[in-house]
Amino acid sequence: MSTQELCPLCGEGQVTQHREDAEQTYAGHTGPVPMYFRSCNHCGSDFAGAEESLLNKRAMMAFRKRVDGLLPAARVAALRGKLRITQAQAAKLFGGGPVAFSKYETDDVAQSSAMDTLLRLVEANENAFWTLVDQKGMQADFGRTQAQPAQSSQPMQPLTASEGPSPLYEPVELKRPPQDNPQTGQTR
Ligand SMILES: [Zn+2]
Repeated sequence: MSTQELCPLCGEGQVTQHREDAEQTYAGHTGPVPMYFRSCNHCGSDFAGAEESLLNKRAMMAFRKRVDGLLPAARVAALRGKLRITQAQAAKLFGGGPVAFSKYETDDVAQSSAMDTLLRLVEANENAFWTLVDQKGMQADFGRTQAQPAQSSQPMQPLTASEGPSPLYEPVELKRPPQDNPQTGQTR
């Protein structure tokens, strides 16, 4: 933005952008949140233009995410970088809609608690990510480069297949709840 623009209120002074922490309260928690505004060196007016309003909205959203215990925007972006997936691929894998990750990563919106849980799970356990890739039928997007032994050229079988864990992951504990056939631990 230009700092040389004339004040829209008095038409004479020059405005400059400022940032100051202000105490904000959300859900019973009070803390400092950066607030952006412009002030005029002639009439002394402080005001927020479109740019400041957007920054303020995002700063407040970041504060609300902290209070709600949701992953901050930078951590969502870092997770996506670690997984080497685009925002569109992330939306396809995790849900939320086509522009969800753009919004999470700029603090335009907060991810739901369920989305946050899913992201934390995948952050903590890369096997969960590959499980999700298989469930969404997105293997081709990821080229199967994660040192998974290519034991079978068949496409993924649905969970009713009798072979147990997919050959596409390490054989981690993938036991199903023993609701059907507790004596064998297998359902079919
Ligand atoms: Zn002014």
